[in-house]
Amino acid sequence: MSLQLNDVLEDSLLPELPELKVIAEKLSTLLKGETIIQASVNNPLPIHGTTVDEFKETLQGKIIDGFEADGKFLLIKFRDDFEIIINPMLTGRFSVRGAGGRPSASDIFRLRFKTNSLWYSDRKKMGRVYLVSGHDYTDVAEFTNRGPSALSPDLTLKEFSRLLQRRRGEIKNILRNQRFVKGIGNAYADEILLYAGILPFRKRSTLTPEEIERLFHSMRSILTKFMDVLRERTLPEITLENRDFLMIHGKKDGVCPLCGGRVSEITANRFKTNFCQTCQK
Ligand SMILES: [Zn+2]
Repeated sequence: MSLQLNDVLEDSLLPELPELKVIAEKLSTLLKGETIIQASVNNPLPIHGTTVDEFKETLQGKIIDGFEADGKFLLIKFRDDFEIIINPMLTGRFSVRGAGGRPSASDIFRLRFKTNSLWYSDRKKMGRVYLVSGHDYTDVAEFTNRGPSALSPDLTLKEFSRLLQRRRGEIKNILRNQRFVKGIGNAYADEILLYAGILPFRKRSTLTPEEIERLFHSMRSILTKFMDVLRERTLPEITLENRDFLMIHGKKDGVCPLCGGRVSEITANRFKTNFCQTCQK
């Protein structure tokens, strides 16, 4: 499951906590309380730990209790403690369409309800889908042993600082590490660090308590601010991933909105990092 070279151009498309939280809100509004009349699988490749027949049979008749974002995963929750856990990776997408319709090559599965249906599609088939019962997540790759959600009310400044002290290395890598806090990826890490005025390559050990406090508050404001922007968009608009609201990530040769200076870019390990040499120290 190696990344293709041209994926460096697409890494900014990875959905992060703000996208997944808003997608979950919108899907819950549309589908909560609906009963699955029929589940069908168009491509079994991303479905792990369950046979296609098991997947279809288990889901038939299940009632949707809601959708939830958990870090970079999306959970479809059913009334009797069953869940579908999806790690959408680069190209996993959700759409609500009419009850009928034929699948296209990128469609993975469909849950059909009385008047509409939920489709999960994945052009690159890199995402992973699991059917879980009784909250047993042991087989879900990269799901357990993660840190608290970046937006959890329990994650206070004090707790954030304590968890940060245990991490070594560059601050951007720490922010993107789901074992530190969950939900932040490559794009939002750049946005948070610009807002906090901290260079992405700074070693954690060099950060002052004031900088850590700024980083914590920037993390919270950036994620909530961008969720508000996303809430104004429709589900298909969010799925198109036009993140024109980002301040700096993916804006090479653009202008920093905070100081008017030029945006810098460095690519390492296939991941793009954008930063402002004036605003960030
Ligand atoms: Zn700037």
